[in-house]
This record gives sequence, C-alpha cells and structure tokens, in this order.
Amino acid sequence: MRPLLAAVCACLFAAEGCSRSATPDAPPPRPSILLVTLDTTRADAIGPDAEGVETPAFNALAARGRRFTQAYATAPETLPSHGSMMTGLYPAGHGVHENARHLSERHEVVAERLKQHGYQTAAVVSSFVLARRFGLARGFDRYDDELPGGAAERSAAETTARALAMLAASSGGPIFLWVHYFDPHAPYAPPEPFRARYRESPYLGEVAAMDYELGRLVDAFEKRVHGSAAIVVAGDHGEGLGDHGEMLHGNLLYQATMRVPLVMAGPSIEPGVSGTPVSVRRVYHTLLDLAGVEAAHSLRGSGTEVVLGEAMKPFLEYGWQPQVMAVEGTYKAILAGRIEAYDLAADPGETRELGSGADLPRSLRRALEDYPVPVPGAASGPDTLTDEARRQLASLGYVSGTATPVVRGDAPRPVDMVPLFETIDRASGLFVEERYADVIPLLRRILAADPHNLDASLRLATAHSALGQDDRAIEAFRRAAAIAPGSPDVRTYLALHYARGPDWPRAVPLLEAIVAEFPARLPAVEALAAIRERQGRPAEAIALRRQAHALKVPTAAELVHLGRLAMSVGRTALAIESFERARSVQGTAFAHDLELGVLYFDARRLEDARAALDRVPASHPEHPMALFKRAQVSVLLGEPDRAARIARARAGADATTRELIANERLFQGHQ
Ligand SMILES: [Zn+2]
Repeated sequence: MRPLLAAVCACLFAAEGCSRSATPDAPPPRPSILLVTLDTTRADAIGPDAEGVETPAFNALAARGRRFTQAYATAPETLPSHGSMMTGLYPAGHGVHENARHLSERHEVVAERLKQHGYQTAAVVSSFVLARRFGLARGFDRYDDELPGGAAERSAAETTARALAMLAASSGGPIFLWVHYFDPHAPYAPPEPFRARYRESPYLGEVAAMDYELGRLVDAFEKRVHGSAAIVVAGDHGEGLGDHGEMLHGNLLYQATMRVPLVMAGPSIEPGVSGTPVSVRRVYHTLLDLAGVEAAHSLRGSGTEVVLGEAMKPFLEYGWQPQVMAVEGTYKAILAGRIEAYDLAADPGETRELGSGADLPRSLRRALEDYPVPVPGAASGPDTLTDEARRQLASLGYVSGTATPVVRGDAPRPVDMVPLFETIDRASGLFVEERYADVIPLLRRILAADPHNLDASLRLATAHSALGQDDRAIEAFRRAAAIAPGSPDVRTYLALHYARGPDWPRAVPLLEAIVAEFPARLPAVEALAAIRERQGRPAEAIALRRQAHALKVPTAAELVHLGRLAMSVGRTALAIESFERARSVQGTAFAHDLELGVLYFDARRLEDARAALDRVPASHPEHPMALFKRAQVSVLLGEPDRAARIARARAGADATTRELIANERLFQGHQ
C-alpha cells in the first residue's frame, strides 16, 4: 500500500506543478542569486582580456554571460563601494565616504528587499572592514563575519568553505547569497600552487587563487540551489600598483583603482560584451530585477548615464582637495581643485590631459560640478571605534582619523601629494601601534611638505603627549589650533593631553564642554569618567561609564570596574548586573565571585550568594571573607552544616573577619 500511496501523492504534486507552470500569466519562477564581490581587483587583472594571468572561472562566466568592460567603482575603498552596491546610491547618497564608518539605517539595503520578497538571505565576508558593526548586515538571515582568531581577514578558500556550508544548510526556495573575497588586497601572499606560478607578480597570483575559489563556489551554487541560478560578480575597486604613483588604493581616481571587473550570467541574461560606462551601484538594481522585484536601472536594460565616483579620504583625513570623477562615453574628467580630462578611447592610461579647451559634454561637466562634497563630520557617524578595532583596521592598512578637515581654496591636489602617500601610510600604522617615538620623525616630514595637515599635527601632539614631552606637545597643539581654529578635535586632543599628566585639572572644563556638545565622543567621555573618580565624584563617574558602554561593547575589565564603582556607592542592582555581564564574557576566567557573592547576600539572593561564594578559590587573597560570608548564608538558609561552616570561618579568619565574626549575632548560639 505504501508505495502506491506515495505514487499517488507524487502524481498530485506533479499535476499541480504542471498546471501551475502551464498558466500563461503565472509569474516566472524566481532564480536563486549569487553575488560575488572581488576586493582590490583591477579590471585588467581578471577576465579574457587580462594579460599575464589565467582566470578560467571568471572567463567561463564571461563566455556565457554579459561582461562590462567599462564598469566603475563609486569610491576606491571597500566600505563605501560595497555600500553603493547594497543601496544603489553613490557615497554622497548613502553617506559612507571612508572605511570604519557606519551605513545609516535610513537606507534600505538590497538584502532587506529580497527578504521581503521571500528570499533566504546569507552573506560571507572576508575582511573586518565589512564586519557587521559597519552596517551592511541588515536583511541577512545569516551574516558570517567571523574571522579566525581575531585576524583581520580570511582566505578565499576558507570563505568558500563557509559559503558551501551555508548552502548545504539552506532549505528550498530562492536564495540570495553574497560572498566577498579579499585575497588581492595587500600584502600579496598567494597560496600554492599560485605562489610558485606567479612568483614575479604575487598580486596576480592572489587574483588567480581567488578565481579558483570563484569557480568552486559557482559550481556548488548552481548544483545546490533548487530552480535556476543567476550570478553577478563585481570588483569593489582596483589597486594602483604604481600607476600615477599610487601603490595601493583610496587616494586617487584613475582607472587602476576605479575601473573594475563586472560580469553576470544566468538564464535571463543575454550574453555579450558591453563597453558602455556603468557604475557598480547598479548591482543593487540588477539584483532586484533578477529577483523580479523591479526592473528600473537594471544592467539587463540598455541606457547610458554619466557615471560618477569620488575619493574623499584625502579631503576628510588631510584637508586636501575633494575629488569627484565623471565618465560619459569615452570622456573622463576628474575635479580636484581644477578639472583634468581624458579621452579613454585614445588614451586609456590617462597620460595626456585634454587641457582646458577640451570639448567635454555639458551633461558630464554639470554632473561633476553638482556632485555634493561631504560636510565634514556630518554623515560619518559617531567615532566609536575601540582600540582593538583600530588595530584590526590598521593591520589592513586602513586607519581612520577623527580629525574634521577645513575646506581651503589653496589645499593641495591629492595627485600632487603622491610622494607623501607612503610616509602617511607608514605613519598611520606606527601611530595605531602606539610606536610614538618612531612615528614622530615621519609626522614632522609630512608637516614639512604639507603644513596644513591637521591629522598629522594632532597625531604629532598626541605622540609627544604620550611620551611625556609636555612642551613639544603643547607647541604641536598650538599649531593644530592655528590650522583649525575652534575645531572640536583640537579641543578634545588637548583635553586628553592634560588629563594624562599633572595638569589634569585643566582638562576638566574642556572635557565638560566637549561631552556636553558631543555626547558620542568616546575618548572624551572615558577621560571625564576617570577624572570624576579622581575627584571623588563616583555617581557622575558611573553615569559617564554607562554612557561610554552604550557607545561600544564594554570589555570584562570595564564591566568589573563599573561593578566596583557601583558597589562603592551601594548601588547593588547595578553592581550585580555589571559583575554578571563580566562573568558571562569571561566564563571560568572570572575572578570576582567574592564581590558577586557579597552583593547577592546584600540583595538577599541567598541561593545565588551560596553558589558564587562556593566558586571563590582557597587561593583568593580574601578567602577569609568568603568563609565568613558563606557561614552567614549557611545560617540564613538553615543548612545542617552551618555550625561547621562557622567553625571554618573562625579557624581561617584574618584580623578583619575575626572582629566581624565576634560581632555577628547570627552566629550566637552556634559556639
Ligand atoms: Zn576593497
């Protein structure tokens, strides 16, 4: 009977499936969608036109899909560029101009929309730069940003393994999977056999190794998903490799870093090659189109536009000219103080400027001039990076300052500052590693070449301050104040300088004003909290510590500190909460069960007090106190061995507990 019944059921479902697909106006089945983003991948380093490198997986997609040879990143940095692919907006629209900022919840991201339309959503990213905290995880059922052992990145092989595991765990129905590979990012260290094969050009070796993983991923995705599959592969930005003097990326807008690979393949995608300039921000619209949500601006459609891009880091970090790029047809123009223009068809290397007489299209010129320059400090969100996060970013070569620049007409053009890039990158790295003595000569060299560099002058002042070189620190602060009069950064760093040394009372009015005006400035909030403790004003210190903990996840040591502070003023509930949180973070390494036991006792949580006190080891320096409190708990709980516990407390007593035991009325009658 059973096989027959099964056969009948199968028929029913088959018939239903058949009749549904036969209905003429039924919606087409939605494909599962794979988005792969390739970090730091130059357009000329991957694909059928690439020289000196084999990328068969990308080439296979290009052969059966649609490839764009003039695709452009919206910014030469990871987070702003990915922000554009996820929102469909240029950085001026979504507000993230640099790494280490946060994408505002105001902007709907593509995963949210696909989820609303019934997609399972998952992401696997390979760099701390795209960690959940930076705002791209919204809408994903699962967002895997776990990096091995606190590292800042993981390899494409590891990322592929994670993605395949996610696929294996997915149920039926369409899937949207985003996988981000980071390998071609510096330092270039490809795995074997690519290391040996590309000994002369390890950057290309990284691209080839990543392409191998791309092939594994695409195969697995197409085999695993139910129904059809669509695939989109896009670069987030390229890499300078010395073009126009730039080794890495982030500071300039030339083709090496702005032109990126872009290919898509799937049953609804017409194969071919397009040379029309397009922006990677349209990945957003294309994903919605492939899912059948809406078709506007999809890369499946035709239509030309002026493609825009920006590189604001040198402006936001050093006060140099803001940079905007526009491409239309074969023309490309860069606005940075003045306009540079190139004919990309005749001069793809951008070596011959067309000059001021160039007959640029009006639409290009207007788009360039209308692109908004960010208001310093407005859209970037609060600076709440922890030291650990800064170090992780620094290990990837990204260091975000907190200085807000001043827009100056005579500011240098970034391309004229190329000889300084390497020094600036090295100085940033040393500063974050707190190698202050080593960083000072580099900062002086930067200031000699770029006397208005606020970031460098503040770092110089901070370095001298940390080394206890008071006079030099104050001199550097004066210089910073002259560059940016009234800058909250200058006031903050000067206050932190005073707070560090014997002049700490001078920090008080400065910090009070800064915290009142900028309650999210974490370093100022923490410094004022420490000063309030020093002043013997614990209630205010507690309020400030809690303000700091709302801005970032506190460490166990910070929770213990708050717990002790709360205990000292009799705020038992807050103290218990703080110690309990520290314990949940630290597990067996938690060493404050005595405090917790005492607090539970005060709160008359006797069972909890007993458990906590029983965890205090005999090696604890205040073990006599643990024995005393445990005996009290024993009496109140009416334990049968209470007399023995009192005896043990007596036998193990020190000067403090001996007196407490003698005066404890609970123990009377248990001689
Ligand atoms: Zn990137």
